[in-house]
Amino acid sequence: MNKTEDRIERYLEPHFKDIQDTSCTIVGMGTLGSKNAKTLGRIGVNLKLIDRDFVERKNLSNQEYLESEEGEFKAEVMKKKIKRIRGKNKSEIDSSVVDLNSNNIKREIKDTDVIIDSTDNLKTRLLLNDFAKKREIPLIIGMLGGSEGMTMTVSPNGPCFKCVLGEEPISQGTCDELGISPGIAEVISGLQVRQFIDIVKDKPVENLLTVNLENMDFNELKLKRRENCSTCNGKYEELNRIKESRVLCDKKSVQMYPRITDLTKLKEINPNLDIYEDKIGILESSNIKIMIYESGKAIIKGVESVEEARKEYDRLLGGR
Ligand SMILES: [Zn+2]
Repeated sequence: MNKTEDRIERYLEPHFKDIQDTSCTIVGMGTLGSKNAKTLGRIGVNLKLIDRDFVERKNLSNQEYLESEEGEFKAEVMKKKIKRIRGKNKSEIDSSVVDLNSNNIKREIKDTDVIIDSTDNLKTRLLLNDFAKKREIPLIIGMLGGSEGMTMTVSPNGPCFKCVLGEEPISQGTCDELGISPGIAEVISGLQVRQFIDIVKDKPVENLLTVNLENMDFNELKLKRRENCSTCNGKYEELNRIKESRVLCDKKSVQMYPRITDLTKLKEINPNLDIYEDKIGILESSNIKIMIYESGKAIIKGVESVEEARKEYDRLLGGR
């Protein structure tokens, strides 16, 4: 048999075709997600990329974006980028600029064989955990903070993320305020990509892998199903969670759910509202940027409290 000159292909044989034929949804196109997308995109995996945000200057040191891409939506930039670098490894690639939540997750994640969690927030991760368990889709979780990172595969029959986390309600304290050590995202992304390959080969690693670059500590913890885990007992609380206003992890933005979500109506209130593909409304005024998604959620950037966010929203869009 002739050996291919492509070193990745050579390594992945005889599973290369199966890997390319597997569809993967990556949620989050930030530090981890942009790396996962590039690696899997290069080898021709069918991808769906989901992210609600646009490229900002602060992302350039740790995410796969260029200065010239500032202000563009991450999911779309990454889709274009992968199309440019793929060479002969052509595959389906789709992107969605959306704020993933319990209302739209069914529509956004469908016909996918594997889900990769590359988000930076626990709420979406728990939502993905419930969704993946309910639909019996393997989910590869990844988390970063400081010099540490962790990853695990949630298989349809194995322990889930909530088995590890417990049932405590999520508080604001779960935000990652540590910053990120250079290199840790590459390690965790590498492990997530490897877990994807292992899932395709039908040998998922259901253990919790943790890494700390500070002391070069690598650990593998064998996981068990927690007997009273709500998710594993078929109670998918995250898929029914109510909407609430809250300050987001960066402490400079707030999410809320305004009463009027019809973008055309909002544009009548403030003609400066830009409507993007009938799906997202964007309004900028000095240091404030408001993004309104068709899911009904609004993100107000440039504010530090829910009260301030409400005040700015009312000022710019005439009442909630
Ligand atoms: Zn569980």
